[in-house]
Amino acid sequence: CGIVGVLGTHEVSPIIVEALRRLEYRGYDSAGIATIQEGGVLDRRRAVGKLVNLSDELVHNPLPGKAGIGHTRWATHGGVTVPNAHPHKAGRVALVHNGIIENFATFRAELEAGGYACESQTDTETVAGLVNVLMDQGMTPVEAVRAVLPRLEGAYSLLFLFEGEDDLMIAARKNSPLAIGHGDGEMYVGSDAIALASMTDRVTYLEEGDWAVITRAGATIYDEAGKLANREVRKVALSA
Ligand code: GLU
Repeated sequence: CGIVGVLGTHEVSPIIVEALRRLEYRGYDSAGIATIQEGGVLDRRRAVGKLVNLSDELVHNPLPGKAGIGHTRWATHGGVTVPNAHPHKAGRVALVHNGIIENFATFRAELEAGGYACESQTDTETVAGLVNVLMDQGMTPVEAVRAVLPRLEGAYSLLFLFEGEDDLMIAARKNSPLAIGHGDGEMYVGSDAIALASMTDRVTYLEEGDWAVITRAGATIYDEAGKLANREVRKVALSA
């Protein structure tokens, strides 16, 4: 339902919670955050119910890290439980997702045939699983995401984070909005530019089928055909 990502220069957990709060008006049933900690460790915290439950969890179990992704979920596949809350994780891959992957049952069968045990009932986890399989086979995160995207049917926005990579997020959009925010030595992603209001007013909107490789130095955006896409940076008027 709501997506936020930050490649920051400070601790990102509080920044992501604050940004998720700006998306609360859209409604949600659970929330979560994943970060990359010093040394490249990928970890996450998730909670069912209001964002305050996630905040409480973070007080008891802080989640350090200067790169992270967060999500407020509106369940479509699988009940409202912690294992079904995003971010989902498969091996080195963490993923938040808005929308629906229509053909996920095929992926689930394929992953299980390969020995992967799904820990959630979601459509989302299967996408993280597919990317992780390709990375296990030696592909880089960018190569793996590029190979998986054409297989996905449905309406979705996706934001990936990878273990061992504290300066990388990969975003993709199909029939579900996604905005990239530009900061000073920091980069942001939001499913709605409103999420980014306290961080930046310089925003690039992904177009249909676009996907983006994001580092603190900036975003490289590709169109659906894989060609470099030139998308303008707009100055938006957002009330902080
Ligand atoms: N289909 C995903 C799920 O049920 C994402 C739902 C959403 O857009 O929040 O977990």
